[in-house]
Amino acid sequence: MSNIADNDTMTKLVALCKRRGIIFQSSEMYGGINGFWDYGPSGVPLRRAVEQLWWRYMVEERDNVEGLDSTIICHPEVWRASGHLAQFSDSMTDCLECKKRYRVDQLENPGVCPNCGSTKMTEPREFNLMMKTFVGPVFDEEHAAWLRAETCQPIFVDFNTVRIATRQKLPFGIAQTGKAFRNEINPRFFTFRSREFMQMEMEFFCRDEDSMQWFDYWHKERWNFYTKVLGIPENKLRIHWHDKLAHYAKAALDIEFEFPFGWGEIEGVHHRGTWDMSRHCEFSKQEKDCKYYDQDTKDSFFPTVVETSCGLDRICLMLLCNGYDEDKADTQKEGMDEDVRVVLRLPAKVAPVQIAVLPLSKKLDESASALFRNLRKQYRANYDDSGSIGKRYRRQDEIGTPFCVTVDFDTVNDQAVTVRDRDTMTQERIAIAALPAYLQSKIYPDA
Ligand code: ATP
Repeated sequence: MSNIADNDTMTKLVALCKRRGIIFQSSEMYGGINGFWDYGPSGVPLRRAVEQLWWRYMVEERDNVEGLDSTIICHPEVWRASGHLAQFSDSMTDCLECKKRYRVDQLENPGVCPNCGSTKMTEPREFNLMMKTFVGPVFDEEHAAWLRAETCQPIFVDFNTVRIATRQKLPFGIAQTGKAFRNEINPRFFTFRSREFMQMEMEFFCRDEDSMQWFDYWHKERWNFYTKVLGIPENKLRIHWHDKLAHYAKAALDIEFEFPFGWGEIEGVHHRGTWDMSRHCEFSKQEKDCKYYDQDTKDSFFPTVVETSCGLDRICLMLLCNGYDEDKADTQKEGMDEDVRVVLRLPAKVAPVQIAVLPLSKKLDESASALFRNLRKQYRANYDDSGSIGKRYRRQDEIGTPFCVTVDFDTVNDQAVTVRDRDTMTQERIAIAALPAYLQSKIYPDA
């Protein structure tokens, strides 16, 4: 990944996200806090819609994946067993000249600073990424606890409880979405590397002899999620197979997206062997919770795990980067500078606002707001009656609203409205009675 942090498209996208209340710095009036981001009124619906699509695709549409929502703070032993307390660290090196700090594994030549070219680099030092807190009134080591660095560990810990409750037999998976925290040394590229972020993970428990088949299956399923469900073009995605594998793993890959700042990981699909379940057995001594007893074959063993692990914020960033576009608006006035239209080409199913209802005049408020209230029952809809129609279209384009429905003076007579398409800019006259079916086929074409 390149180090061009102030890449032009990113600068524009970050500015747009703030201007339109999509994503902006947390605690900005205090100067912000590095690596923490707030989602505003137009960001929350986007993130929730993507999370719901994932949940539907990974849990609700399957018989063999169950859902979980565990706490962010777990028993500290969980993180000792997982190896996070001892090993979850980045090896960092500092440039003594320009004072920049780098992750050693991300440097092409670890002895040379990519910023100023100096060779005065410190010896690599390990920084643990776990966020520490204290549980209870006493702030000493006995009461120390950690915010989870990944959402998957509680899945391993709850494996047997979920299995018993759902009567699932191997192979089956457990999924959860939620916050994860990492004290990243170098938060950067907008939300790409944050210190507080959302993960969406699924751990699939199976027999070791079947695990590579499941690995291939999940690899393809996850690729389909990005290309078919979210509509990301295949040429902007690639698979990066890991050459160096953990000693327990048979395979690992990352799905990467081409961000304006370079290729970056959005998801990992990992074969985790029996590592997690055997470690939790070793630390908890609860063998019955960590092993699976097969009633047919009468054998008991640690299940092998295939994991799919992605970051919700990175997926949203991918959608924003993929959707950001500028074109020349047809509103250019004679003798004026070219009018640039900023448009977010987000898939309609995840757009923060799916339909905007725009009355041409305040006098049309009654019929327009009735239509709006009706559409709002099914879609994320917005009502805007202030400013010129051109300005209103612009505002909607900038948050990625795929359809603007204009109510005009003819509407009262012909019971029809004009639907303007964000991408083609075409305007179609549609009867109000036909509007729900029309919008449904456009917004959820595969439903
Ligand atoms: P990286 O190499 O980029 O640090 P990772 O290999 O440590 O990522 P995993 O531990 O496999 O990432 O986490 C799974 C997913 O969680 C990643 O693919 C990414 O989408 C997301 N993720 C990880 N760290 C962050 C972060 N600091 N900010 C936002 N999302 C993250």
